[in-house]
This record gives sequence, C-alpha cells and structure tokens, in this order.
Amino acid sequence: MSEEAIVIIGAGHAGVQAAVRLAELEWAGRIIVVEEQDGPTYERPPLSKEFLKPGASDEIAALRKESYFEDKRIERITGATVTGIDAGARSVTLSDGTSLGYFRLIIATGSQARALTVPGSELPGIHLLKTRDDAQALRRAMRPGAHVVIIGAGYIGLEVAAAAAKLGCTTTVLEFQDRVMSRVTSAPVSRHFEQLHQEQGTRFVFGAAVTEVRGNGKVQEVVTADGSAYAADVVVAGIGVLPRQALAEAAGIDVKDGILVDADSRTSDPNVYAIGDVTRLIIKDQGINRRLESIQSALAQAVSAANSIMGLTNTKHEVPWFWTVQHGVRLQTAGLRLPEDDIIVRGNPKDGRFSVLYLRDGRLAAIDTIAALSDFTVGKKLVASGAEIDPEIAADPANKLTTAVRELVDETR
Ligand code: NAP
Repeated sequence: MSEEAIVIIGAGHAGVQAAVRLAELEWAGRIIVVEEQDGPTYERPPLSKEFLKPGASDEIAALRKESYFEDKRIERITGATVTGIDAGARSVTLSDGTSLGYFRLIIATGSQARALTVPGSELPGIHLLKTRDDAQALRRAMRPGAHVVIIGAGYIGLEVAAAAAKLGCTTTVLEFQDRVMSRVTSAPVSRHFEQLHQEQGTRFVFGAAVTEVRGNGKVQEVVTADGSAYAADVVVAGIGVLPRQALAEAAGIDVKDGILVDADSRTSDPNVYAIGDVTRLIIKDQGINRRLESIQSALAQAVSAANSIMGLTNTKHEVPWFWTVQHGVRLQTAGLRLPEDDIIVRGNPKDGRFSVLYLRDGRLAAIDTIAALSDFTVGKKLVASGAEIDPEIAADPANKLTTAVRELVDETR
C-alpha cells in the first residue's frame, strides 16, 4: 500500500491500539503517534485502583514496551500536541510550529475530566483524576486521617473512596443522584456497593448539589445547596468527562457531544478517523447514537479504523463491557442497560454474589454480575445473541443461566 503517513493524535488505549493494528496489518508507510505526555504510554485503569492503595508501587504498566514501538517502526513524537488540522492540505500543525502531512489521520484525543465550576473551584487541594500526574498528586495528598470529600459517586468517585478509606482517611461522598453509579447500573447493585462502602466507614450524602468550596489559601470545606458544610483537606471531583473534540470541530468535522463516527470509525471527512472516548457512534439503521466511555470499545474502534484504512471488511463489534473493583468486590457489566428495562435479580445480594439481568422485550439486553464470573461469561454471549429469557428460571442461581434461554435471535454471534 501507500508509502504515506498515518498520523495518530493521542497515545491512550485507543491511539496505541490503532498503531499496533496498523503495524500488524503491515501498513507500508509511516505510522506516527503524537503524544501529549512525555515518557512511556500507560494503562489507565490502575490509576484509580491499585495505584492509590497503601504502599503501592510507583510503576504503572506500559501499554506497550518501548522496544515494541521501535521493532514495529512506529514513530512517536512525545511531549507535543497537535494545535490544528488542515483538512484540505491533509496536514497537522504541532505545538513546536512544525507540520506533518498525512494520508489518513486518526483522532484519538480521548476525554478530559470535567472540572468543578462553583466558586472556590480554583483552590489548591481540589483534584481531578485522569492522568498519571493527577494520580500521583492525589496519592501524595491522601494521608491517613485526612478529610477527603469526593464529589460524584461514579466509577472514579467510588474507586477513590475505596482507596481513601483503606488509607485511613475520613471519606465523604457527595452525589447529585439518590444512589451510586446511577448512570451505569440499577438500584439493587447501587445499594450493594453503598453498603460495602459504608461498612468501611465511607459516608454518602445523596441529592447533594455542591455550591461552593471554601478555604483560606487551600480547601477547607465543601458547601452544598442546603447550607451544609463538609470539612475537607482533599477534594476529588469525579463528575464525568468531556470529549476533547476541539481540533476536529475547528477543522470542520461534524461533532455533537463527540466526534461523529460510523461503525468503521470514519468521521465526516473521508481522510479522518476518530476512535475512543472522543467519539459518538452513529449507526442510523440500528438506532445507535451514543458516546461510550469504555476501553473495550476504544480498542474495537481502533481495530475497525485500521482495518478500514487497509481496505478490510470490519468484523462485528463486541458487546460493550465494563468492570470496576471496589473494596475487593468486582462488578462486571456486559451490554448497555436502559432505565426502563425489566430487572431480574439472580441470587441474594446478602450472599455477596449475585447478578442483575436487564430484559428488553423479553430479551437479555445487559447483565451486571457481582463476584459471579460464570454468569458474566455466559451472560455476555447471551446478550450478543439476543437471547429470550425465562425470568423465573433465570432468577434462581441454582439453574444454569443457559437453561433460562427460550430462543436465540442470532446463534452465530
Ligand atoms: P461518571 O461515571 O459520569 O459519574 C459522575 C457522577 O457524578 C454521576 O453520578 C453524576 O451525576 C455525578 N455528578 C456530576 N456532577 C456533580 C456535582 N456537581 N455534584 C455531585 N455529583 C455530581 O464519571 P466519573 O466517575 O468521573 O468517571 C469519569 C470517566 O472515567 C468515565 O468515563 C468512566 O467510565 C471512566 N472510569 C471508568 C472506570 C471503570 O470502568 N472502572 C474507572 C474510573 C473511571 P449526574 O449523572 O446527575 O451528572
């Protein structure tokens, strides 16, 4: 194929996987990754988990060894950002003023943590958690006995809460909604995790709207709309992310809360692909229009972009899946639930091991499993195949999940 360059902006899970896939497919031209941070690429999941634990090592696993990039002749430009895309000339400008021509461009700029905007948000002692530097700063701040106030009870908020409690901090979580992880799971799962955290000393305040952070030279308290004030030495905002789409937008590429892409990760510009957290996937005939903040989906999009560039037909996307570990308890999710789905609780949450099945028109649309690996493995396949489920059989954990299947829509999946 062409000797020309493929430029990848961003070296997170998506960007690195795209480079890897292009190298595997033996792209004959240059593969150039522009990386904002200096140093090795790194895994992000440990940043809010193992990395914050007492006595944790400073090492963070690299996405690929440095030697891998050299062997595969993947070029890396580190400590540099792309400041502009000239779609007509097919080139990007870098922060040092130089420019790079591309045959195809892959935007993998990811997302950025949403910052607090209330008065006092600029005070020292307020942390976001997205990068290795953020995690290091947070780790230094969370000393035993410190009052840690976490805003937001999503994955970030809860994983940090677990680490803070283990480190001997006094931990309070303030959340808008009336339960934890409300964006991603149902009430039975939320309640289970709330109890787990409460047993470890974490206090939750639900329906809490933060109105101000106060302090003299550094944070001292967080104030909510009802006038309550929570003492804080450290504040962590885990209030969601925003897609980093400005470069694409400025280049005239279609964006709408994410760069719009199709199943092949193509943007509205035929020479430009986008993958990972920065994207919004649109598949009109399947009614899909969504942003997915998931490593697995970022990796799948990276493969689909590389395949498409190489002229290969893309395979079907895997069912989206997610996981989190809090106080040693693993929640694994396959598929995408909707709040209106019918819910089946399989097993007793009191036993510490159960699953929640989400049925849409009688078919398994998603599953959450708590310490139930086999339900996860089987459930993921059943979600992919659109299995119609007998709710009574499925509710009893003494029955294998497969025995609850009435009909498979697509047995090939
Ligand atoms: P998130 O999952 O969107 O959760 C944020 C939570 O904060 C939501 O419940 C939100 O409520 C609440 N919130 C927003 N603004 C608030 C405010 N001003 N005061 C109180 N509560 C507020 O986002 P996240 O936990 O920050 O995670 C960031 C990203 O990292 C996500 O993409 C996540 O998937 C990813 N991540 C994933 C994992 C994992 O998969 N294990 C681990 C860490 C991070 P509303 O819904 O009402 O806005």
